[in-house]
Amino acid sequence: MNLRPEEISSIIKEQIKRYEKKLDVVDVGTVIQVGDGIARVHGLENCMAGELLEFEGDVYGMALNLEEDNVGCVLLGSDENIKEGDVVKRTERIVEVPVGEAMIGRVVNALGQPIDGKGPINTDKFRPVEQKASGVIKRKSVSVPLQTGIKAIDSMVPIGRGQRELIIGDRQTGKTAIALDTIINQKGKDCICIYVAIGQKNSTVAKISEILEQHDAMSYSIIVNAGASELAPLQYIAPYAGVTIAEEFMYNGKDVLIVYDDLSKHAVAYRTMSLLLKRPPGREAYPGDVFYLHSRLLERAARLDDKYGGGSITALPIIETLAGDISAYIPTNVISITDGQIFLESELFYSGQRPAVNAGLSVSRVGGSAQIKAMKKVSGSLRLDLGQYRELAAFAQFGSDLDADTQATLAQGERIMEILKQPQYSPVPVEKQVMIIYAVTRKHLSDIPVEKITAFSDEFLLFMDNNYPQVGKGILETKNLDENIEAELVKAINEFKANFKMTM
Ligand code: ATP
Ligand code: MG
Repeated sequence: MNLRPEEISSIIKEQIKRYEKKLDVVDVGTVIQVGDGIARVHGLENCMAGELLEFEGDVYGMALNLEEDNVGCVLLGSDENIKEGDVVKRTERIVEVPVGEAMIGRVVNALGQPIDGKGPINTDKFRPVEQKASGVIKRKSVSVPLQTGIKAIDSMVPIGRGQRELIIGDRQTGKTAIALDTIINQKGKDCICIYVAIGQKNSTVAKISEILEQHDAMSYSIIVNAGASELAPLQYIAPYAGVTIAEEFMYNGKDVLIVYDDLSKHAVAYRTMSLLLKRPPGREAYPGDVFYLHSRLLERAARLDDKYGGGSITALPIIETLAGDISAYIPTNVISITDGQIFLESELFYSGQRPAVNAGLSVSRVGGSAQIKAMKKVSGSLRLDLGQYRELAAFAQFGSDLDADTQATLAQGERIMEILKQPQYSPVPVEKQVMIIYAVTRKHLSDIPVEKITAFSDEFLLFMDNNYPQVGKGILETKNLDENIEAELVKAINEFKANFKMTM
């Protein structure tokens, strides 16, 4: 074969061109230090914050500290087989989780991988876990209620779709119970629920999944679990993974409820990680950006304008306090980020007042506009009555001679407290809440002994179902308690009371 020189050079040129195309430049570095789930890597000049790095043996890490001569990175797997001098590859992606309908009904870990033994999740859609929250322009104000089915909450601290309401209290005060009841109450209400468990025992989470299964709630729920035995970085990512899964639904116009149980443990995991990365410790040894940790998470809860699909994410973060101290560092942070808090009190819990909602310290700053009119009408005086009752009850312990006025206030308060008691896993529909709260706030129960109030309430609501179904229907349809419905309700109360008193 005879080739002229210019042909040869053109072939070579062509090959060089192709060679360049094929060349896949991979940014690699080497491990200079490893231990405690942290690795320092040298030579990754272009690494991004939060980028996923690939270590030998299929272990991934997340770059968090971008320093002058090295990158500090947390490992998302065991550091056992990683040695100094190992090669580390950039992936040019930040941590992602699978999202979409296929996630519903599943239990996944912080990276969205299934851990329920029900096989792989069939979705090819992924979203990065860190994402900017929707801006003001895209949002709409809160106006649709998110019914918890819990009388003490729906009446006094109503929650709206798109709101962030903190559940705060000491350990074992029924925090998780409120979140679970709220999830159970979303059945048939077109709201997808995500429960993010952070730093809890795996047995506790297994029980929660069982309870949701029993109440047929897993069919619209997802559990994201980063257990206490899991590495701190996974506990750190879990809530972001949860809200990322939620966002996919929200941007598709759906309503989502997300529970973070709990953010105290989340902050502790972040502190562990930060101290290992040698970030400077600040107050209570938390790093300086611990506020940003929770604000950028909770800011992603939103109600979108109809132009953007009209979906919403309602967030119920949970915070555990020590001895009721809500002025500690993490509790004050999260209180200031959220739109209100449900404060649970040990004293109430142990005295049998469950759910142990402290009406005085609990607030909802935006949910009022989402409450239905009927509920607003009947629950208006509830807070005031309870406030007066608590004030007087403290005194009444000591005094014996009480004037008639004081006695009446005390009697009314006791009855309200009794009505607000509610067992677990038995949410009350809003129209029934309206009926029974109406009965107590309009003093129809003054002549029923306190110890009979629970029985009265249960039987009365059954009676209404059987004999006056139109009252409940009317409240639901009009969302109001107009004169006609009210007159019928009063008639029903009197009729039932006459019967009830005879059996007393
Ligand atoms: P922890 O701090 O351990 O997470 P917690 O504040 O989440 O606790 P729960 O686990 O929800 O509290 O509840 C503590 C206990 O109280 C549980 O045994 C639960 O069954 C019980 N409990 C919660 N709410 C009620 C209720 N309304 N009526 C009766 N028992 C309740
Ligand atoms: Mg709990």
